[in-house]
Amino acid sequence: MQDKQPVIGRFAPSPTGPLHFGSLYTALASFLDARSQQGQWLLRIDDLDTPRNIKGSIESILTTLAIFGLHWDGSVVYQSRQQAIYDEILDDMQALQLIYRCACSRRMLVSDSYPGYCKNRVISIDTPHALRVKTDQRVINFHDELQGDMTHQLTDPYEDFIVKRKDQVIAYQFAVVIDDDRQGVNQVVRGFDLLDSTPKQIYLQQLLGLPTPLYMHVPIIVDQQGYKLSKQTGANAVDLTHPEFILFELLVLLKQQPPLELQHAPVKELLDWAVVHWNPAPLKKVCKIFASTVD
Ligand code: GLU
Repeated sequence: MQDKQPVIGRFAPSPTGPLHFGSLYTALASFLDARSQQGQWLLRIDDLDTPRNIKGSIESILTTLAIFGLHWDGSVVYQSRQQAIYDEILDDMQALQLIYRCACSRRMLVSDSYPGYCKNRVISIDTPHALRVKTDQRVINFHDELQGDMTHQLTDPYEDFIVKRKDQVIAYQFAVVIDDDRQGVNQVVRGFDLLDSTPKQIYLQQLLGLPTPLYMHVPIIVDQQGYKLSKQTGANAVDLTHPEFILFELLVLLKQQPPLELQHAPVKELLDWAVVHWNPAPLKKVCKIFASTVD
């Protein structure tokens, strides 16, 4: 029998602001999942979408993770430093006609699904264009550790999604697949809001002959109106004065039932307990959790 591969997990925040309670929740889940299997936990900064990056966020994210005891392995990887790698792979894909140029403006496309206007057109390199991947009608099946068996039928050409935007920014769907593979990530733990992106990412993995990691989409933390906590909905940066209180709350919301006597325990003690006792099963089929359930 083959030995099980060592687990490599990761957290990949976008530097669009400091970490808020919701993003820390995801970070903690992926940390516990990797560490409970004696795995590595990597940190990657998804900073390709430069117009959305906020100055100072990277430092603030790193500081917050460190204060909460979420220490990553190795050096931090920055997507913005990997442009040449993405471009090289895109060139290869273009040579194999796996992607095509699309000059459509956003105004021409009334909905998110793409009617394939440019699929069979020749668009010169000098025309401002995005790059889209050609999809086919295959069925993507995958098992999510919490959300169960998923199946998604691609519908060509409507799902020919963008891999490089017209403003030259590499699209998230593409970068994440390349980076997870290059970093050897084999367990992706992230928020439920990204579950819909997973079939696209698996499609790209299949196209490029890359392995598909294990996926676990944890619930997202929502406010009283049911909206995901995010900078857009006014979520505040996590308060760093009493990380142990927040960590305890996060563990409660991860349904880990931390013992009450650990309520005021230092961060390290709490995390050590959580790594040993990590059990994601109570989160099965849960897609959102209200922040207000915490006392
Ligand atoms: N950078 C993405 C975000 O902050 C997460 C990417 C991922 O986990 O796949 O929402």
